[in-house]
Amino acid sequence: MKCPACDNPESKVIDSRSLGDGIRRRRECTKCGERFTTYERLQQRSLYVIKKDGRREEFDREKLFSGIRKACEKRPMPTGTIEKLVENIETELYSLGKTEIYSTLIGKMVVSKLADIDHIAYIRFASVYYEFSDIATLKHAVDNLIESKQSAPLDGQLSLIKAEQLVGQKHRMRQKANNGK
Ligand SMILES: [Zn+2]
Repeated sequence: MKCPACDNPESKVIDSRSLGDGIRRRRECTKCGERFTTYERLQQRSLYVIKKDGRREEFDREKLFSGIRKACEKRPMPTGTIEKLVENIETELYSLGKTEIYSTLIGKMVVSKLADIDHIAYIRFASVYYEFSDIATLKHAVDNLIESKQSAPLDGQLSLIKAEQLVGQKHRMRQKANNGK
């Protein structure tokens, strides 16, 4: 593990903590004294992802993480939310006991979990995942989300739902008015 500051390959462990499924180590560069953290986890047995075009590639936790992080960019979320989400999905995937899974299954898991966490992140991820090609498909997804979440809106998301409803209502009212003429 190279030092992030000076690239020196030597470091000493100054602290290690067990995380249940892994170990977190604090390291100190022997050359410049930079301190950094490494994680060590058990290599799970291989899991392959079957992509939409039929190609297979090894499950890549980093790829999943960066996809979700992109969708969650600048959204107000407690620290560690994305890590936990990735952790949960990974655990669920491995607990299926399969060696191959469809990428669409992973996508569905992310979409359904994001819907409970943050609506904007959900829409962002879903728009990439479902390849929304036009605004009508996007609106349909938003409508579905509002319908399914209306009974129990999350903190801080009420305003989004209200705004969406208002826009919809105004639009319908305007249409009615126009039709009446
Ligand atoms: Zn260093």
